[in-house]
Amino acid sequence: MRLFFTIIFIFLSLTSSLAQSIENERPKLVVGIIVDQMRYDYLTRFYNKYSDDGFKRLIRDGFSLENAHFNYIPTYTAPGHASVYTGTTPSNHGIISNNWYDKFAKKVIYCVDDANYTSVGTAQGGSKSPSRMMTTTISDELKMAQNQQGKVISLSIKDRSAVLPGGHTADGAYWFEGMNEGKFITSSYYREDLPKWVKDFNNSDKAEKYLNSPWNTLYNIKTYTESIDDNNIFEGLFIGKKTPTFPYDLSKLKKENGNFELLKAVPFGNSILTDFTKAAIIGEELGQDNITDFLAVSFSSTDYVGHQFGPDSKEIEDTYLRLDQDLASFFIFLDEKIGKDNYTLFLTADHAVVQVPAYLETVKVPAGYFDYREFVTYLDTITKKHFNLGASRLVENFSNYQLFLNREVLHDQKLNIKDVSEILANELVNHKSIYKTVTAYSLQNTNFDSGVLHRLQMGYNQKFSGDVLLIPNPSTISRDRTGTTHGSGYNYDTHVPIIFYGKGIKKGILKRNVSITDIAPTMSNLLKISFPNGTTGTVIYEALEE
Ligand code: ZN
Ligand code: ZN
Ligand code: ZN
Repeated sequence: MRLFFTIIFIFLSLTSSLAQSIENERPKLVVGIIVDQMRYDYLTRFYNKYSDDGFKRLIRDGFSLENAHFNYIPTYTAPGHASVYTGTTPSNHGIISNNWYDKFAKKVIYCVDDANYTSVGTAQGGSKSPSRMMTTTISDELKMAQNQQGKVISLSIKDRSAVLPGGHTADGAYWFEGMNEGKFITSSYYREDLPKWVKDFNNSDKAEKYLNSPWNTLYNIKTYTESIDDNNIFEGLFIGKKTPTFPYDLSKLKKENGNFELLKAVPFGNSILTDFTKAAIIGEELGQDNITDFLAVSFSSTDYVGHQFGPDSKEIEDTYLRLDQDLASFFIFLDEKIGKDNYTLFLTADHAVVQVPAYLETVKVPAGYFDYREFVTYLDTITKKHFNLGASRLVENFSNYQLFLNREVLHDQKLNIKDVSEILANELVNHKSIYKTVTAYSLQNTNFDSGVLHRLQMGYNQKFSGDVLLIPNPSTISRDRTGTTHGSGYNYDTHVPIIFYGKGIKKGILKRNVSITDIAPTMSNLLKISFPNGTTGTVIYEALEE
């Protein structure tokens, strides 16, 4: 009898201590930070100029993955955010690009547009939802693991960068409406009105104030030895300014550059988002009890500045030095409001970016430009030669380097889709800007386990993608000769930082190759919850405390 009671007692104390340890182990708040267009080498290139409390704090006291890559094509913002938070690739989660040709609707659609919902806080800009994302996110799983009790709040300058990380079950997702508004807004998918803290923030005129300050370099521009001359032919110009050079008088440039749109395109877009994030923590009382909340933040201004000026510019250097300061103040705020040991954080990017191809050419690196109109003419000669049909009849849509063939025309002409795709693939690879081509048929029937074709396969969605897929040459983009872009499966677009920091995270670095899709399962394991339902990544166990 006594033995029986003892066993019961041991059993009860074991179960309660297990429950207690899980409860104690979970942080009060999880913070996911995405820096739009951040290359891995921005951590190292500007390292000596960063403060002690921003990026350096994460590297020093957290766990840094030095060899983290996106494992699919295309490396764009929407698939990037979806893949980080779902732990899988576009082949599974369905967000195959920012905009893509919808074969069913027969029109180009935008990833988070949803006419079932209306704008909240403005007349336009808010009819959004995550409904095209087919799998769950880490934020959804945390919500369900706690019987819907924890809060999930997601914030960004860009709508897609707020909507997708919040998942399907977010309590709130807010983004910045530029134009003549200068306000943070939402969609009726989440709620019918803006909460008081958002209204108060919008009424504070912060956006106006940021546009009244000039953008000059944080430190003496002569010390920015990590980047090329401020005035050069590789950088895009703001309307109304003759050279791409500091200082930028924002109050003067505002009118001609889309009013509050200008705020997105300068580092102060990151600063206002930092202010807004702090207001959200207070307004939503995040991390104040033992139920774990989730805060997703995505900094977008890095992407706008990167597109216009490129990775080698003084403008991008200054943007990262300023972001570092914003992050430092955010981390100190988290220490004060949540408690130093009560939160877990990860920081990564949604893709990286290529150096300006025109600049690469001047330093003898192979690079170039894909001329869309010239390519379509080339395509037309091929379709006429083989099928006696103009490209506009045979190809229903050409976008994101994918050809969508017209099923009806194929049927009428008694053409077999597999044969047509193969002929096009074999011919188009001869175009001067094209590196590789592959048919949807091959992607469905072959397993590519490494390299650029593997990445293309991971981005290929059987239901939504095109029939012939093209890969342009390295460092070849479709754009004019100033500024740059991203989207490829080459290392310059795939290599990004991943840093874990805080409760449950070891200090250290890891040099083995990991994928961006490993973040969500790693965080799930730390939180002891289910993986997002489509997860294909694996746990980076080296980063986690026992
Ligand atoms: Zn992006
Ligand atoms: Zn410049
Ligand atoms: Zn971009």
